[in-house]
Amino acid sequence: MDIKKVHIVIPIVMAGIIGYLGTKIMDIKKVHIVIPIVMAGIIGYFGTEIMDIKKVHILIPIVMAGIIGYLGTKIMDIKEVHILIPIVMAGIIGYLGQVDLDETSLVISRIPHISRPSSQPVRQVDLDETSLVISRQTDLNEAFSVLPRMSYPQPFVDKPQRTDVLLMSPWLAPIMWEGTFNRDILNAQYRQKKFVVGVATFAVKKYVRFIEGFLGSANKFFLSGHRVNFYLFTDHPEKVPSMKLAPEKSLFIIPVQNYSRWQDISMNRMDIISNRIRTHWHYEVDYLYSMDIDVQMFEHIGVEIIDTLVGTISSWQYTKPRDSNSYERRPESRAAIPSGEGDFYYAASFYGGSVSEVYKLTTACFKGVTEDRANGIEAKWHEESHLNKYLLYHKPTRLLSPEYYWDEELPRPQIIRVKRLSSVRKDLEEVRS
Ligand code: UDP
Ligand code: MN
Repeated sequence: MDIKKVHIVIPIVMAGIIGYLGTKIMDIKKVHIVIPIVMAGIIGYFGTEIMDIKKVHILIPIVMAGIIGYLGTKIMDIKEVHILIPIVMAGIIGYLGQVDLDETSLVISRIPHISRPSSQPVRQVDLDETSLVISRQTDLNEAFSVLPRMSYPQPFVDKPQRTDVLLMSPWLAPIMWEGTFNRDILNAQYRQKKFVVGVATFAVKKYVRFIEGFLGSANKFFLSGHRVNFYLFTDHPEKVPSMKLAPEKSLFIIPVQNYSRWQDISMNRMDIISNRIRTHWHYEVDYLYSMDIDVQMFEHIGVEIIDTLVGTISSWQYTKPRDSNSYERRPESRAAIPSGEGDFYYAASFYGGSVSEVYKLTTACFKGVTEDRANGIEAKWHEESHLNKYLLYHKPTRLLSPEYYWDEELPRPQIIRVKRLSSVRKDLEEVRS
C-alpha cells in the first residue's frame, strides 16, 4: 500500500469514530469531532513526512490525544474519562499502522532483511518501487548520529584526479577508475547505511572448478568489511569446497539444473536471477550483482561499485567505435541495436544495481531471449547482446571501467592502473564440453 496516504487516512477515520462515539455516549458538542480529525491529519502527515514512522507513530497520537482530551475537559466541560478513550484508540491506531507497514510494504522495512523467512510466500510487492533504497536510508537516527571525522587531501575543481580517461558518461554517470576516489571516504559513508549486497554466480557442470578461486579471492577483495551474501547456483552442491569466509560474508548454495548447451546455461542465468529476486532476494538484499564464476579478484572491489544500475565496460571493446563493436545488429533479433547507436560495450560477466533495477533488467533481457528463441534466432553474444540493448535505452547510473573485468588474455595498457578482477584462462572447448 501507499503508506503515506493510508497513514493519513487511518487516523482520520479512527478519530472520526472517536469523535462520533464521544458525542453519542457522553453528550459532547459536535465541534469535538473536528478537533481530533484535524489533529490526526496533522499527526499522519508529520509522522510520514518527517519521522521514523514506526516508533513515533505510536507516541505522537497518544500524546496529542492526551492534549486533545485535556483541552476538551478544560474548554468544553467534558468528563475526564474522555481523556482515556482517545489515548486508547490512538494506541490502537499506532499499533495498526505499524502492523500495516510490516505486512504490506517492503519500502520502509528496515535492516533485518535476513530474518525475514526465505520461505515466505510470494507477495505482490511493488518491484517497480524505485524508492526502495532511498527510503531505507531515510533514518533520522542515522542522519543525526555523529559523523566520523577524517583527514584527507582537499579536492579542487580545477585539479582533476585523472586526465587520461573519461570520468563521466555523457549522461553524467561516473566511471570508476583507480586514482579518482578515496576508498576511506566511501567506506565511512557506506557503513552508515548498513546495506546487504547479494552476489549471484553460477557454477554448472565443469565450472565447479572455478568456485574456490572465485570465493577465495572475493572473500578477501569483494566489499571487504561489508555484508555480502554469495548465492552460488550449481548442479553439483556436493562439490562446493568448504571454505571459511569472513564473518560478514555468507554463502548460500542453491541447486540448479544444467542445460546441454553452454549458451543456455549462460542465458538462463537472467531468468533464474529474475525469479529469485521475486521470491527471495527482494526481502534479503539491497543491491545485487551478477558475476561470472571463472574470475579471480586481485585488488579491492569496494563500495564504489554500489549504485542503482551498474554496468562494466568490456575490456575487449573499450576503445572501439560503436559500429565495429560486438552489438547484435540483425533487426530480427530482440537484442538488435540500430547502426549508428551504442554507448559502451558492456560485459555480461559483471553487472548489478538495486534489487528492483536488476529485476527489471533481467526480466526484460530474458524476455528478449525467449522471443528470439521463438523466432529461431540467437543473438550474437547471447544474453550479453540483450544486456547491451537494455543498457543502451536504460542508461546505467554508474559505470565500472575495464579494471573491473580485465580479460586475462589482453596486454594491459597504461590507463589500466590496476587489474581488480580477471577472467581465469580456460580451454573453452574442454570446459564447456
Ligand atoms: N557457466 C557455467 N557452466 C557452463 C557454462 C557457463 O556455470 O558450462 C556459467 C559460469 O558462471 C560462467 C558464465 O556462465 O562464468 C558465463 O560463461 P563463460 O564464462 O564461459 O562465458 P565467457 O566469460 O567466456 O564469455
Ligand atoms: Mn566468463
